[in-house]
Amino acid sequence: MFTSLRRTLVVALLTLPAVAHAPLAAQARINRPGTRSGQIAIRWLGHATFEITSPGGTTLLLDPFISGNPSTPDSLKNLSRYRPAAILVTHSHDDHAADAKSIAQRSGAKVISTYEWVNSLRLPAAQALGGNVGGTFQVGDVTIHLVPAMHSSDPGGRPLGFVLQFADGRTLYDTGDTWIFGDMALIQEMYKPNIILLNVGGGPYTEDPHAAHTAINKYFSPTTIIPMHYGTFPGLATDRDVRAEFGNDRRLTVMRPGQTLRF
Ligand SMILES: [Zn+2]
Repeated sequence: MFTSLRRTLVVALLTLPAVAHAPLAAQARINRPGTRSGQIAIRWLGHATFEITSPGGTTLLLDPFISGNPSTPDSLKNLSRYRPAAILVTHSHDDHAADAKSIAQRSGAKVISTYEWVNSLRLPAAQALGGNVGGTFQVGDVTIHLVPAMHSSDPGGRPLGFVLQFADGRTLYDTGDTWIFGDMALIQEMYKPNIILLNVGGGPYTEDPHAAHTAINKYFSPTTIIPMHYGTFPGLATDRDVRAEFGNDRRLTVMRPGQTLRF
């Protein structure tokens, strides 16, 4: 007990003066190990697949549909390159979940999705983080909230969206596959997302660019809107459809598959 207390005091004495007297930039480095500038890095891999690295260096892989994704650049299709801390899956359909189990088995990453679907993967217990709407997980310096989406998820569970809450207070909302729904107002009220990964795909399955833009204007006030789930297959909205709907909305940030942006 005494040894432990003494060690704590020694660590505190060694650490505090360094932080207290460091210039601001140096303090940022001390507070956020593993990053240069405290930025959120977002790489779009095409369709609904994103690799996100937090200001503290936690990497999350969202809706991994990579090896069979016609939009993913060939140079990024090797599943061995992905070593996320966690894989987040909005629902069980192949265009969101196809590579989740394989990457989890290769990398040891945890998998976060609905309880029923995560259990169906039969991963080791330490990797299987099943949850449901309203649930929260902490992975590294990111708090992950499970929120509703209006879609289906068969086999296994129900569809989700995710809100990622970063340590600096910023939030990112991945809508998942959905249509506009009234409870988006509650997602805004509770989390005030700064960045929204917005499904705009339309076709037979999800909200089209107009419904997605209506949802943004009615319920949200983000600084950045990144459209996704379009242009991958015939029948989905095209790049031209998305740009036509959003017009001169300066919040729209169109990414290229493989591109990384920092915020
Ligand atoms: Zn989909």
